[in-house]
Amino acid sequence: MFGKMKQHLQGELSEIKAAGLYKNERIITTPQYSEIKVQGADGTEKSVLNFCANNYLGLSNNKRVEDAAIKAIQSHGYGMSSVRFICGTQDLHKELEQEIARYFKTEDTILYAACFDANGGVFEPLFGEEDAIISDSLNHASIIDGVRLCKAKRYRFANANMEELEECLKQAQAQRHRIIVTDGVFSMDGNVAPMDKICDLAEKYDALVMVDECHSAGVVGATGRGVAEKYDCYGRIDIHTGTLGKAFGGAIGGFTTGPKEIIDMLRQRSRPYLFSNSIPPAVVGASLEVFKMLNESDELHTTLMSNVEYFRTRMVDAGFDIKPTQSAICAIMLYDAKLSQDYAARLLEEGIYVTGFYYPVVPKGEARIRVQLSAAHTQEQLDRAIAAFIKVGKEMGVIK
Ligand SMILES: *Cc1c(COP(=O)(O)O)cnc(C)c1O
Repeated sequence: MFGKMKQHLQGELSEIKAAGLYKNERIITTPQYSEIKVQGADGTEKSVLNFCANNYLGLSNNKRVEDAAIKAIQSHGYGMSSVRFICGTQDLHKELEQEIARYFKTEDTILYAACFDANGGVFEPLFGEEDAIISDSLNHASIIDGVRLCKAKRYRFANANMEELEECLKQAQAQRHRIIVTDGVFSMDGNVAPMDKICDLAEKYDALVMVDECHSAGVVGATGRGVAEKYDCYGRIDIHTGTLGKAFGGAIGGFTTGPKEIIDMLRQRSRPYLFSNSIPPAVVGASLEVFKMLNESDELHTTLMSNVEYFRTRMVDAGFDIKPTQSAICAIMLYDAKLSQDYAARLLEEGIYVTGFYYPVVPKGEARIRVQLSAAHTQEQLDRAIAAFIKVGKEMGVIK
């Protein structure tokens, strides 16, 4: 009986293609790293420098992390075949939760299959009709979905706009509890949420603060410990959510970390936790090794930051228009949608893999190429990327 729907879907898919919004997936035939091999349309392989993974600390293909994953499989098996509260909790899961709490200086942590689930399951158990959620307009899709699943009254403020946030807080005094929710780093511009000001307003208007640290953890702050470290906001941010799928090894998994009563309530009521499988021992064991490495040394973070600085400085010197990033995300502004696509395609020919973004992913007329730096990039690789950007930029009249 699929016939009628098939026709309908074919029509919609052609519309997506005609609008130039169809997402094609590029096939990688190597581990994820700073240099990867990708398959061309004709099936041939091409080696490219990778500037579009969230592999900020270069741990997605790290020997120590991989060995820890193998060791955990040997000691704790392959799968859990259960949710946490029935028979899916191992000693490793509890250790990792404690390790994450230590890293963020919080009381307790709850693991999820992904940060998408952490954000999807954090609001509904804690906030009801009589409460308010005040959300940054550029927050991640998973926060938007999580808020939708909850009956609390919703307020929205323009990205990092503190006047609008204050206005929302004034209106939300009518509600019982209020929470301000923001991404730590916004993935399209690379800007960091002004947590010090957000916390000031939260205290003035009696609100909780939640931050999604997916792009900030491992990256911002003097040693990469996220926005609380950067803004010295320890004790002022109530809830952090984050992913194990970016800086912390890049496999899969998410978490919510904060006060023990909140985490306890999430274990009782958070649906993506209660009704979805435990993360596999290999990922848990490898993540434990990641936090061990980060506690031993800040070297990876230091390398990441010096790579960001190196790349940014040379690109600005070359005449590129770059959003003032405070993270490992560098938005090279081209403004024109077609130019962003042509530029990225030319860079791929030059062996540099980056993604061009345009409306509706970014505002109209703000098309750009997003570069994500990693501790795994060598200076020679950065130089090759910069040279390619300059070569193509001159060709296309973007720089002189
Ligand atoms: C990547 C990302 C997520 C989703 O994380 P997963 O663990 O991959 O589900 C959530 N929020 C933000 C801000 C992200 O960047």
